[in-house]
Amino acid sequence: MKEQVASEAQEVSRRLKAAGHEAFVVGGCVRDILLGRDAKDWDVATSARPEVVQGLFRRCIPTGIAHGTVTVLVGKTPIEVTTFRGEAEYSDARRPDRVNFGVTLEEDLARRDFTVNALAYDPIDDRLVDPFGGREDLAARRLRAVGDPAIRFREDGLRVMRAVRFVATLEMSLDRSTEAAIPGALDSLRKVSAERVRDELVKLLSAPRPSLGLRVAQRTGILAVILPELAEGVGVVQNRFHASDVWEHTMATVDNTPGDAIRRLGALLHDVGKPRTAAPKVDSPSEQTFFRHEAVGAEMTDAIMRRLKFSNRERERVTAMVAHHMFWYSPEWTDATVRRFVRRVGVDLIPDLFALREGDVRGRGRGEDPEVELCELRARVHAVLDEDQALSIQDLALDGEDIMAALGIPPGRRVGEILRALLERVLEDPSLNERDRLLSLAAEIHAERGQQSGT
Ligand code: ATP
Ligand code: MG
Repeated sequence: MKEQVASEAQEVSRRLKAAGHEAFVVGGCVRDILLGRDAKDWDVATSARPEVVQGLFRRCIPTGIAHGTVTVLVGKTPIEVTTFRGEAEYSDARRPDRVNFGVTLEEDLARRDFTVNALAYDPIDDRLVDPFGGREDLAARRLRAVGDPAIRFREDGLRVMRAVRFVATLEMSLDRSTEAAIPGALDSLRKVSAERVRDELVKLLSAPRPSLGLRVAQRTGILAVILPELAEGVGVVQNRFHASDVWEHTMATVDNTPGDAIRRLGALLHDVGKPRTAAPKVDSPSEQTFFRHEAVGAEMTDAIMRRLKFSNRERERVTAMVAHHMFWYSPEWTDATVRRFVRRVGVDLIPDLFALREGDVRGRGRGEDPEVELCELRARVHAVLDEDQALSIQDLALDGEDIMAALGIPPGRRVGEILRALLERVLEDPSLNERDRLLSLAAEIHAERGQQSGT
């Protein structure tokens, strides 16, 4: 397996060993090699103290000296070199109070979270160290805590999030007693910062099938801690168009929505407003209606993403996905309807909305082909965009200044009203978008509204 270790990591190990220290690649990168995946980052564990590591390599960054970590740069590749350490008390379920150096590799591996992450490999002597049966667990695709899971989960609240993340990304099942320890450790999870929870959630959503981890999060109570609004959807039955309850439909939608983790978050939250808007259908009380669930859901999404400290940009993107996911295309849409649709949702959101619709239709589990609807709408949207026609007030052949000058009116609400009315006309008939025609239309609109409001 030596060939699978990046030459830069081998180089660092060789140098440390030549100076008389122990050195192993360790943790996630060893796990990924054994799984035949590309390792994302390289971690080296060594018996050398941080000051010694810094003395051995010309280019290093003292990333986390207090915790024994030095980032060594080999060419452009950063290698995290960490001194073997044991961990003492965790009094706050977040960070260990202090770390002890001067321990063995086995002790260092014992502080790691899961057996599959507690593997070390010496690429120089081609030696794998696996004190907790990580290799066997990898082969069985079983995620198991190192040591007593109840203690390990309580000492660091993030570990339960890592557990469900790895269930999804590594497509492993959670060992029974490891899973059984989660409900008793949720108080530790509540102490973890929103940013760290968010980062794990994003990694989970990058897995091919996020539902693998989300289902474990639901049944162990993690979901109720981090996203209680979503837990409300369990058991909320829908109607003849959906084969499953809101939660099951959500799981299927997330897995079937192609794209990045933020788009998947939009899929996860698209129906979050349903439980709170559910009402029995008048003529068929066994079915539910969810009137305005997209608007309620958008508000809830905004609050959830503020709480989890997502960036404004990500929050606005996902909230808009939720708000606009209920469009109903039919071939009767006129070109003006298509233009209005594009204007309402915004050009940038369209790929997200179409991907969500694909996941939503597949997630209904009735074997429908989302392309029946999307193919035609996609083509019509492209046609509208290609024609370069006005889709927003900025695209009009005049602006507010022109209107004020021509009509002799001061800045104010009326100018905006006229611009919006002009855009409506232009969306209906793009040939109107010429300065002179718009000016005479503006005069008409001003006169009509003036009469209505009596001014
Ligand atoms: P990836 O890098 O693919 O996200 P990883 O397992 O490498 O996954 P890192 O955060 O890079 O995760 O951590 C590297 C190693 O450090 C892990 O494999 C594990 O051995 C150990 N580790 C990380 N976080 C924890 C934790 N919260 N508790 C115990 N050990 C941890
Ligand atoms: Mg890693």
